[in-house]
Amino acid sequence: MIKFLDLQKITSSFEPELSLAVARVVRSGWFLLGEETAAFEKEFAEFIGSKHCIGTANGLDALRLILKAYIEIGVMEEGDEIIVPANTFIATILAITDNRLRPVFVEPDIETYNIDPILIEQAVTDKTKAIIVVHLYGQACWYAEITEIAKKYNLKIIEDNAQAAGAVTMMHSAPVAAGTQVPGPGRTGSLGDAAGHSFYPGKNLGALGDGGAVTTDDDELASAVRSIANYGSVQKYVHNHKGLNSRLDEIQAAVLRVKLPRLDADNQLRRVIAGFYTSNICNPQIVLPGLAKQDSGKGEQGSHSPDVILNTLSHVWHLFVIRHPERDRLRKYLEENDIQTLIHYPVPPHKQRAYAEYSHLNLPVTGKIHREVLSLPISQVMTLDEAGKVVDIVNQFR
Ligand SMILES: *Cc1c(COP(=O)(O)O)cnc(C)c1O
Repeated sequence: MIKFLDLQKITSSFEPELSLAVARVVRSGWFLLGEETAAFEKEFAEFIGSKHCIGTANGLDALRLILKAYIEIGVMEEGDEIIVPANTFIATILAITDNRLRPVFVEPDIETYNIDPILIEQAVTDKTKAIIVVHLYGQACWYAEITEIAKKYNLKIIEDNAQAAGAVTMMHSAPVAAGTQVPGPGRTGSLGDAAGHSFYPGKNLGALGDGGAVTTDDDELASAVRSIANYGSVQKYVHNHKGLNSRLDEIQAAVLRVKLPRLDADNQLRRVIAGFYTSNICNPQIVLPGLAKQDSGKGEQGSHSPDVILNTLSHVWHLFVIRHPERDRLRKYLEENDIQTLIHYPVPPHKQRAYAEYSHLNLPVTGKIHREVLSLPISQVMTLDEAGKVVDIVNQFR
């Protein structure tokens, strides 16, 4: 049986360091707001290339805290609009509505599955305050159009980097002049005004439980996030904001410190599997994942050569997502052949009962994606032998 994601194998690949790190915290008797979290925040900020990192309880909270902090510092107010891709995990939307802000759904590009930059401008109103870009499935969503629109309408860009830990784009925006892009490498999470990260166990950089982080270069935002995440307080029993309790704990921070140094190498192993899939899956009914062109949001679909995949650092292959017109039949067939798959995601946020107020929206590209996508097994511990079995069985499907 080929598992969708072998978390046991991934975890044991970090032993014995992982257990030693956990034991170190257990022995210390200090579990929150301590040295491990401070050290991880420093290391992660350095890795991402941002000035500040604030550990949070999970990725949803990271996004929630960014928006709540923007409200607290007067950048946004209840009822303001946030542009967001219609094709995303529901947490992106929950972060918006939890703050009584309004999501404005924009269709994705059918090749990259990320927000279609061409469609953003027509969604801007005088209530729009921010664009949330989601680097979905692990592919950086960062194009000149997005920074230009943000500059033109004075919008914040918030990155949902939950799925793209470690991705590097070659077009990052220069901090000296927001809204201008200069060629040069930049990690997702350092590109916009602020970013939310998730360390959910199944993500590319996963903890042994929930965890998340906010990164930003903005001093005022960073101190508001840090305070709000800690009951609205930076000094014990002095409360400047109506805060929450959302912190990364010492055990998770210690675990992440063991795993972070290997993230780039692990992502490269994912690219090997992705390259193998794209050059060997040749079932005519299957649509392979597309890569975004560096400077436009348009995707280039198809069977990219393994070299292209290995050299495209802007994709970290959190998920390897194919499309098939008879997705459910394909999934059942793979299951019968001992290959586990998942669907990311079967129902789009605006069609969930929780968001009945948006169910009337006509978002056909999003609908098509949710009907047709299927995620094949991929990870840094998957072998080429296993990937070969997946390819053989997928190619035999009729
Ligand atoms: C996982 C995920 C989140 C939420 O992260 P949690 O740590 O699970 O709360 C947010 N956005 C996207 C796109 C995700 O995949």
